[in-house]
Amino acid sequence: MRKLLIFLLVIGYAVGSEIRLLSQNFYPAGLNIIEIKNPENTKILIETESKTVYFPANSEKSFFAIPYACKKLAILNVIKDNRVIYRKFIRIKPKKYPVSRITVKERKKTEKILKRIINEYKLIRKILSKYTPKKFKETEFIKPVKNPKVSTPFGAKRVINRKKKSIHWGIDYKAPKGTPVFASLSGKVVLAKELFYTGKTVIIDHGLCLYTLYAHLSKIKVKENQHVKGGEIIGNVGSTGRSTGPHLHFGVYLCGERVDPDLAFRLKL
Ligand SMILES: [Zn+2]
Repeated sequence: MRKLLIFLLVIGYAVGSEIRLLSQNFYPAGLNIIEIKNPENTKILIETESKTVYFPANSEKSFFAIPYACKKLAILNVIKDNRVIYRKFIRIKPKKYPVSRITVKERKKTEKILKRIINEYKLIRKILSKYTPKKFKETEFIKPVKNPKVSTPFGAKRVINRKKKSIHWGIDYKAPKGTPVFASLSGKVVLAKELFYTGKTVIIDHGLCLYTLYAHLSKIKVKENQHVKGGEIIGNVGSTGRSTGPHLHFGVYLCGERVDPDLAFRLKL
């Protein structure tokens, strides 16, 4: 029995030593990287007080995100062949979010517009859930505008026309109309079209279920299925869709889970 226990401990250690956490972005909506040797049939499971999320781990370096709603503790599990091979309790660091009050002209929502909003929401969720394999050559995210000035940070509690509406799921950068917008990383353009809320919008698939979104553009300068390099111009700042003035709304997503772009910028890929 004792021999068996020692054997199991050694096995456990060997498996554990092949997994290495490469980041400590342990905030709500924090993007993180984990290194997993032999990642076949492996997935990452994050358990929190409010929800459980899965991330694929088909690559040696894999991403996972702490859900925004997680404010205290998360349990990181690495599961291989339906067996937990690594578990870590993560204490979530506190982060404060401001309240952002804006007034916008609400367009009357006819049945046709409501249908459009629902269809666009479904389209985006479908796009953001697709996993594309990739080996990252880049080491960091590029900020999508030069000399960025944040007007509304990620996670701000939005009050629109005096009504509590939602959480602000991206960063707003104030910039004059026409300011060039850059791809944050290399990838494939998977959406380049005008949507009801986000106006002229571009979504780029960077691989490993990581996506960036650029909204309210005045001009889109890329086409769907086009490959872009990090730093390449993909459009210009504008105020299309539901917007109060020229700005870029920049969003980062991992398998549909909202990521705080500010925390993603700190990450070494
Ligand atoms: Zn925004």
